[in-house]
Amino acid sequence: MIVNKNINRGIKNLSFIHTKHIRMVHHRVTIIGSGPAAHTAAIYLARAEIKPTLYEGMFANGIAAGGQLTTTTEIENFPGFPEGLTGSELMERMKQQSERFGTEIITETVAKVDTSVRPFKLWTEFNEDAEPHTTDALILATGASARRMDLLGEDKYWQQGISACAVCDGAVPIFRNKPLAVIGGGDSACEEACFLTKYGSKVYMLVRKDHLRASTIMQRRAEKNEKIEILYNTEAREAKGDGKFLGALRLFNNKTNQESDLPVNGLFYAIGHTPATSILAGQVDLHENGYVKTVPGSTITSVPGVFAAGDVQDSRYRQAVTSAGSGCMAALDAEKFLSEQE
Ligand code: FAD
Ligand code: NDP
Repeated sequence: MIVNKNINRGIKNLSFIHTKHIRMVHHRVTIIGSGPAAHTAAIYLARAEIKPTLYEGMFANGIAAGGQLTTTTEIENFPGFPEGLTGSELMERMKQQSERFGTEIITETVAKVDTSVRPFKLWTEFNEDAEPHTTDALILATGASARRMDLLGEDKYWQQGISACAVCDGAVPIFRNKPLAVIGGGDSACEEACFLTKYGSKVYMLVRKDHLRASTIMQRRAEKNEKIEILYNTEAREAKGDGKFLGALRLFNNKTNQESDLPVNGLFYAIGHTPATSILAGQVDLHENGYVKTVPGSTITSVPGVFAAGDVQDSRYRQAVTSAGSGCMAALDAEKFLSEQE
């Protein structure tokens, strides 16, 4: 392989280096991700005339391009939309805004990165065995994804009654006018339980503690909904059914130590998320819980030139607007880094 590294370093924007045998793609700033963090970073960089390249993924981590908001219904807390709008619509608007200012969007999932030397290298699932794409700066905005429980019987009834996305699956006929359950006590659990009352005859929230973790407004909504019953100190032990579809859950009350069966035809997990950092292991420092470590108050990671924004580095706030805010910070941090290099 013949690559002139000096030429490579001097390349600005998207460039193609032709040598005798290879064709390399070099970007000035690469963004991995497609949620509010990625698109906000792209908008800022594109408006600063640093034409960024954004790899939006192709069902990366099982989530469509656009990220977690594509799995939900109404967004009522993103400023600027007093009437609310759907998560998918919000993300489509962000994508259009990125493109309007010249972001190059590539619908591929990044499979591997190498941040050991600059320019950084990255491979997508389509070019994993080929020459890597290179980039002077990298913004990680890969977000997070829903957790599963490994419940006894989960594999048998997965997508046959068990789901991790009420918005995606709640409307299917097997759940209509049937008792349903949601596991979790956070905002997602409350939101999903409320959403499922449109379809189910009753929705049980199974909460392992004696209180909810959700924000006050979401708690109130769930508590006020007559079709929702919250079962505290309750853990699911087993998913049972007729071999084809889910029909009941074996429950354990961790206060009374008693077990019981709860007839339900649907079970929805809302037990939190895992940061999408599998491609980053050994490349940037991660916290014990897998989230990317950043210098507090910035998006700077352990590797100069690599920045992290959104849920992938935020185990605390995890909101669309905070992700967008940190996407803006990543763009400004990357812009400063590039100007210092040049
Ligand atoms: P994400 O939205 O997680 O998107 C990252 C995306 O990047 C991935 O989904 C994937 O498509 C892509 N990607 C990942 N890895 C790769 C890769 N290797 N290569 C290429 N692409 C990749 N927040 C609110 O403020 N208001 C709400 O009402 C609200 N409702 C919610 C409802 C639900 C059901 C959930 C789950 C979350 C909700 N949130 C809400 C939280 C909000 O969705 C997140 O905080 C926000 O989407 C995080 O944005 P992000 O940019 O960090 O990444
Ligand atoms: P959270 O991490 O906030 O909550 C997870 C919930 O699941 C907790 O109640 C937790 O219990 C429970 N849990 C975790 N593991 C298990 C398990 N193995 N068995 C049983 N229960 C379990 O995640 P969310 O997805 O609810 O929220 C993520 C972020 O997205 C938050 O920042 C939230 O504010 C935001 N969001 C905002 C919305 C809005 O503003 N409208 C809507 C949805 C999400 P425990 O408390 O005991 O740990």
